[in-house]
Amino acid sequence: MYELLLAVCINANPAQCMERRLPLGEEMNMMRCMREGLVHAQKWADAHPDLELKQWRCVKPQEAAAGPLETFSVTEVAKGVFVHRGQHAIPSAQNLNDTSNIGFIIGGDSVAVIDAGGSALIAGALLAQIREVTDKPVKYLILTHMHPDHVLGAKVFKDAGATVIGHKKLDRALKARAQTYEDNLKRLIGDAGYAGSAIIVPDEGVTNSREIDLGGRVLVLQAHPTAHTDNDLTVFDKNSGTLFLGDLVFAGHTPALDGSILGWLKVMDGLKARDVTSVVPGHGPVLTDWPDGAMPMVGYLEALVKSLRESIAKGETMSKAIRTVGDEHRDDWVLFDEFHPRNVTAAFKELEWE
Ligand SMILES: [Zn+2]
Ligand SMILES: [Zn+2]
Repeated sequence: MYELLLAVCINANPAQCMERRLPLGEEMNMMRCMREGLVHAQKWADAHPDLELKQWRCVKPQEAAAGPLETFSVTEVAKGVFVHRGQHAIPSAQNLNDTSNIGFIIGGDSVAVIDAGGSALIAGALLAQIREVTDKPVKYLILTHMHPDHVLGAKVFKDAGATVIGHKKLDRALKARAQTYEDNLKRLIGDAGYAGSAIIVPDEGVTNSREIDLGGRVLVLQAHPTAHTDNDLTVFDKNSGTLFLGDLVFAGHTPALDGSILGWLKVMDGLKARDVTSVVPGHGPVLTDWPDGAMPMVGYLEALVKSLRESIAKGETMSKAIRTVGDEHRDDWVLFDEFHPRNVTAAFKELEWE
């Protein structure tokens, strides 16, 4: 049994788009749905002249309706600032790669989305939440960095009319990894979960900093030197004092190093001094105790640097360091075995050349 998932936009307001499900009956299988889908979609579109049909695809109703989409929710952390918390988990068909925090900010005349989520289905769930609270167009999608859990839903917002903005180095980083990221996601969450997900390169890059105005609400985008990755971008909402830090801060979830550990600590030194009301990390709960809330992560990174320098000074091999360095932190972090060994490897390579 298959049904059609239609992507439609309102003719009078092309930036306002949504998904509609069209049941096709018990008999429908994938092949037939693919063959006959266009006819059904066209018929539906003809009956809804106020809507424009953008795309259609065949989905299994039970698969698409199960899991995180049913329970998907956002929290208003400050007036007009909404955050959805991703799970601490490895991407799977069950979680649809709903593994990072994503959010949106509503201004006087438009909306900015911060990070797209790890798949098109998660992005669609966020867009549906936006439409629950406002009719204003989604003018911007701001990507905090290149990692798949933050970007693979981007096409949903691009199709809804958003301008995609990222760090000036994001474009190159995504082009180099697009195929790998897309193939990996397909393998991890399956074709049905993947549908519609894609790497989208930014329309505009930020070199140092840039302000965008949502109508009486200014967001400050700041591009950082290499830290978590070489394309980390933060978003500060001047109205509420909320700072979206992307993966420059992890809370609860083991930090993941894909840039420079020394660079990351340096960037954190600057961020610690920031006067903010609350901080939205890439993973974990919203932090209202800034900079204290970041201290566990900073402490982990500092301890890693210290232990690795000692290990390297003793002439130990990387494989020995991976087995021993930082193991005392195991109980402090979720997904430690999935991320910590990679952090040791990356930091060892960086520090052995000091
Ligand atoms: Zn992340
Ligand atoms: Zn990341």
